[in-house]
Amino acid sequence: MSQINVDVCIVGGGPAGAMLGLLLAQNSKLEVMVLEQHQAFQREFRGESISQGTVAIMEKMGILDKLKEHGFLQLEGLAMYDKGEKIFSVNFHDFAAEHKFTIDIPQPVLIGAILEKAQEFPNFRLQLGASCIELTEQDDQITGVVYREKSGEKFSVSSSVVVDASGRYSKIRSKAGLQAKIEDFKRDAVWFRLPRPSNWELTTRIKVDGRHHLIILPTYPDTLRIGMNIAKGEYKELRKKPIETFHDHVCKLEPELEGIVQENIRSWSDTVLLDIFTAEVPQWSRDGLVLIGDSAHTVSPILGQGVNLAMQDAYVLAPVIQNYLEVQPQTVIPQHVFDQYESNRKELISFVQNFQADQERDLMAETEEGMENRRIKMSTLNQSPMKIELATKMAYGIFMEHAVNAG
Ligand SMILES: Cc1cc2nc3c(=O)[nH]c(=O)nc-3n(C[C@H](O)[C@H](O)[C@H](O)COP(=O)(O)OP(=O)(O)OC[C@H]3O[C@@H](n4cnc5c(N)ncnc54)[C@H](O)[C@@H]3O)c2cc1C
Repeated sequence: MSQINVDVCIVGGGPAGAMLGLLLAQNSKLEVMVLEQHQAFQREFRGESISQGTVAIMEKMGILDKLKEHGFLQLEGLAMYDKGEKIFSVNFHDFAAEHKFTIDIPQPVLIGAILEKAQEFPNFRLQLGASCIELTEQDDQITGVVYREKSGEKFSVSSSVVVDASGRYSKIRSKAGLQAKIEDFKRDAVWFRLPRPSNWELTTRIKVDGRHHLIILPTYPDTLRIGMNIAKGEYKELRKKPIETFHDHVCKLEPELEGIVQENIRSWSDTVLLDIFTAEVPQWSRDGLVLIGDSAHTVSPILGQGVNLAMQDAYVLAPVIQNYLEVQPQTVIPQHVFDQYESNRKELISFVQNFQADQERDLMAETEEGMENRRIKMSTLNQSPMKIELATKMAYGIFMEHAVNAG
């Protein structure tokens, strides 16, 4: 088996892995390798909304201009409607910081821009079509990985640290003996795309009626990405019903989609199921290994936080790796070095997870009383000064301080 030696081996070229690769290649002389099992980054219905805090990171890293060249949508706010009445809204123009808007851009474009920039640095190496199949260990320390190419040929990589950025179904995590508490939500989501009417405002809409809701996201360049909740495990049964059942359901929640949904969703094959669960991982690291992104914390899709948390993890972790290896090159990074990164990130992530769980409970209210409470809660929050504080924390994450002080 051929042997490769690097300082940092990153498994997974999603938003978390790509971003970490770029940060390390750009700011240090460390040899960095990203292994990605797919040959290309084509992926549909993934996080496409990049929140304000992550836009700030993009600008710092010189990627925002590349994204501008491609084009993206700027989302100007968010609004929630209950039975057609607007009960809650946030206008992003009200944020004090420079980057006020969420941007919407296809994930392959985002990852492509990050990796293209990373490849400008000679210490960065990307291996596509490379599936990590094993971790190598010595004296209880992780010392590298084995990966297999499509041809079947295997390679052994040795590194000072393996970063598991392999996403929500990470196998690396379990191979390392790190357990995840998986919690299924009461619902799944059916995602679909429709052409966006020309007069549609650039705002995320949440349309609620009783136990049902739609999340409608204006998506680059000219579509709407829509998620409809269904009961957990119901998709298989639903698919046996005529597609008109689906049309009626969607139009009841959003009458403005009448005609468009019938014309564009001809069968259930035009929809995609998102299995909704969260993963909480009590311990994110071992000697020689650390987790980032969905592998460390899979969150619910509420308020599109997954991509942002993943990329912000990379931003916080990169200097930790860099500082350690500059002083102690070519040694396995001990677990305690990651303690601060882990506790720092867990604080924000548990805030996001608790907020999402609260929203999830409200959206899935089953009694009339629960639905009325949801309405009162959102209308009250809408009038409260806490609204902008809460929205700022969700939008800016690690750049919260900067966002608050910018005004
Ligand atoms: C259907 C769907 C809709 C979503 N919508 C939103 C949204 O609107 N907003 C939002 O913020 N988030 C959304 N998310 C979540 C978001 O996509 C993730 O949170 C985000 O992509 C996490 O980034 P990551 O880099 O941690 O993991 P991923 O993006 O999952 O990347 C992991 C990478 O690792 C690779 N990999 C896995 N195993 C191996 C291996 N053994 N060897 C080599 N490579 C490997 C995978 O191929 C993949 O490219 C959605 C997710 C799904 C599934």
